[in-house]
Amino acid sequence: AAPDMDPEAECSVDIILVGSSEQSSTPSPEPRRDLIAYEVKGNQRAIEELCICCGSFQVRRQHPLFEGGMCSPCKDKFRDYFFLYDEDGYQSYCCICCAGQTLLICENPDCTRCYCFECVDTLVGPGTSGKVQAMSNWVCFLCLPSPRNGLLQRRRKWRERLKAFYDQDPESPLEMYKTVPVWKREPVRVLSLFGDIRKELTGLGFLESVSGSGKLKYLDDVTNVVRRDVEEWGPFDLVYGCTPPLRQPCDHPPGWYLFQFHRVLQYARPRPSGSQPFFWMFVDNLMLTEDDRVIATRFLETDPVTILDTCGRAVRNAVHVWSNIPAMRSRHSAQVPPEELAQLAQDRQRARAAALGPATLVKKCFLPLREYFKYFQPNSLPL
Ligand SMILES: [Zn+2]
Ligand SMILES: [Zn+2]
Ligand SMILES: [Zn+2]
Repeated sequence: AAPDMDPEAECSVDIILVGSSEQSSTPSPEPRRDLIAYEVKGNQRAIEELCICCGSFQVRRQHPLFEGGMCSPCKDKFRDYFFLYDEDGYQSYCCICCAGQTLLICENPDCTRCYCFECVDTLVGPGTSGKVQAMSNWVCFLCLPSPRNGLLQRRRKWRERLKAFYDQDPESPLEMYKTVPVWKREPVRVLSLFGDIRKELTGLGFLESVSGSGKLKYLDDVTNVVRRDVEEWGPFDLVYGCTPPLRQPCDHPPGWYLFQFHRVLQYARPRPSGSQPFFWMFVDNLMLTEDDRVIATRFLETDPVTILDTCGRAVRNAVHVWSNIPAMRSRHSAQVPPEELAQLAQDRQRARAAALGPATLVKKCFLPLREYFKYFQPNSLPL
């Protein structure tokens, strides 16, 4: 799960936040961190008064998963990176500090967490990372029965804390659903409109092709669909919709897909009282007009992110995505000028990459759903 930071990496899909020039703050590793153990054991300082991610005394928040504080930059970093996953299905960064180059991976098959050497050596004890590496079947600090390991103490009700951490953050306007413990996770039930995401979800391990666990209902036309239909087919955990892939003859203006998605989404939503996780995603293949996008943001009550398919420096394809899946707003980076996207939308008519359809660009965005739904070993389909 080592993050690929190489800017010259050949081809990648990246997520940027539209309408924000905010730079992600990345504090350099602090030498003071070595002093955490000394401050707690020698100076009798409470660990809640120290940032367990960097050793700073400027504590702003409590760490949601483990006892200890967090300074402001480390809190922002955690918010932006905690729900990012790599293709292998593991989290991209350390679940304590949300950084780290080399990561220890939990070998509990249902766990996706990683830990950096520095966190483990600083908080659990010097030399721990080496011992963990030498172990054949290591289970992590959130999965181990014992809540305390050195200075690292798992919080009680850390899932509630994680939800509260995101809900308190003004940068994450939509309420987050509490993550689901492994033994309670059920196969996901999906309603897929105008574009079929079965292949993507099967490849990611959310649907099982053999036994048919997990279900997906695909509709390419919803003109005559009424509330009763959706209630009969449902309940659903994820509603996906998109503007149609290029070169697919479409019978309606692009805005129609947005309105129909919003209409059907209302039918599929669980009753407001429930705390059952319910996710949705609408993807625009750069077909909506600027006015349509403003309407989408108002209807869906969240700003879109732009996901780029880049090859070296060149942007080959892009989509706008509105969703309530955690981490959709993560990975802030440079903005793409609207003119460039407009140009891309035109050029794309000729480009081959664009013909793949919008779902291929957003595949990775489904990975945080691993915290909520049953996971099947994906069969050989590559991501
Ligand atoms: Zn810090
Ligand atoms: Zn770490
Ligand atoms: Zn684990």
